[in-house]
Amino acid sequence: MQIKVLGAAGEVTGSCYLVETSKARVLVEFGIHQGGAHTEAKNRRMPPIDPGTLDAAILTHAHLDHSGRLPLLPRHDFDAPIFATKATIELCGILLRDSAHIQESSAARANKYRAKRGRGPATPLYTTPDVERVLPMFREVPFDEFVEVAPGVRAKWVDAGHILGAASVMLQLEDKGERKTVVFSGDIGPKGAPLLRDPVTFDHADIVFLESTYGDRDHRPMDDSIAELARIMNQARTPKGKVLIPSFAVGRTQQLIYFIAGMQREGVVEDPKVYVDSPMATSATDLYRRHRELFDDDCWELINGGTPCLSFPGLRFTKSPQDSMALNPMGNGVTIISAAGMCTGGRILHHLRHGLGREETHVVFVGYQGDGTLGRRLVDGSRKVRVMGDDIRVKANIHTIGGFSAHAGQTELVEWLASMRDSGPRVYLTHGEDRQRRALTEKIDEVLMLKAQMPAWGDVVEV
Ligand SMILES: [Zn+2]
Repeated sequence: MQIKVLGAAGEVTGSCYLVETSKARVLVEFGIHQGGAHTEAKNRRMPPIDPGTLDAAILTHAHLDHSGRLPLLPRHDFDAPIFATKATIELCGILLRDSAHIQESSAARANKYRAKRGRGPATPLYTTPDVERVLPMFREVPFDEFVEVAPGVRAKWVDAGHILGAASVMLQLEDKGERKTVVFSGDIGPKGAPLLRDPVTFDHADIVFLESTYGDRDHRPMDDSIAELARIMNQARTPKGKVLIPSFAVGRTQQLIYFIAGMQREGVVEDPKVYVDSPMATSATDLYRRHRELFDDDCWELINGGTPCLSFPGLRFTKSPQDSMALNPMGNGVTIISAAGMCTGGRILHHLRHGLGREETHVVFVGYQGDGTLGRRLVDGSRKVRVMGDDIRVKANIHTIGGFSAHAGQTELVEWLASMRDSGPRVYLTHGEDRQRRALTEKIDEVLMLKAQMPAWGDVVEV
């Protein structure tokens, strides 16, 4: 039995593992590489997984860096079930369709440029029909129960507390009379985050693949971040004052709604007026509301007391682009939560074009801003930016609130691993850059006295 590490080795995107026994071949994750052109070029190179011979694929959660290359598989003769939790499958419907749309429109944009220079057309990485081919291949699995996914391969999904439906997965492999247990952490959420239950861990494993996105640090306490957001929302209550929050549509937007609902209940912000202005965020919020069974005890306490946790009187969801444009003249501290989270597209752009030049505007960044994005330029303090073809002198107040992560910090990662320590697992750190992996390796050695490995792309782990 062996496992090949074919992605997210020394980087945070492109997760992919191949599990092989004498009886079965199972793909675990097939995520997209995200970043600059050099990184994204890797998406075009099919790793050595021979999709036609796979017995199954397994997915921990819907984020594209875990799921985003699945639509490529049917083109390569893949014909097997993809196992995931119900909420993950539904979120994949939203995220993969959006991803195909982005691939198609960026190829179309590139082709205008290429045609002018007499170059041949660029093709999208995949298209909407590819996504529609792969979505019916998903098979729903329950949480907390073993499911046979391939001959001699049983898998169990447990809460990871990261986004709706997200799980860590334990595999029990049986081959030639041997039995081994392998754990894939997926992405682990922070403890005490709103809405979702805290991450669940396992009590034993022979091998653990552990994410290390924030392997080098702990996050600021979330309460400080909530207080800071409330302060900004109150500060913006001037006749022309407005708060713009570029936010990831899935996960972060729902957290913000939950926090602002709390501010309203506690009177910290009086009668907040909030518009969620992103079709994808609206669909994702609907999906969260339909999966209350995944909410944590705090949420259920509210629900049982007659208070919905993803709703408050001043919350609105815009529909058409006209509704979105109608928000432009509003003031009095109106808050607009819109995508894309890094300002790389979406309706947030027209809000920024309208608001960045005004000193009454507050732009609040609540998530990671990748290199080269408009979001990063604003966070880094650029006073002149180009938005939708217009050059704008930035007069708005730019705020960065760092405590809303969907990932566990270093201490929590070590704690998550600690419960498996006594079974003496071999630990492999993935889904993190080398600086983060190194720091986590040292911490794991210091606290748990386990020697964690940092696999490279293509490394084979003998089980
Ligand atoms: Zn994730």
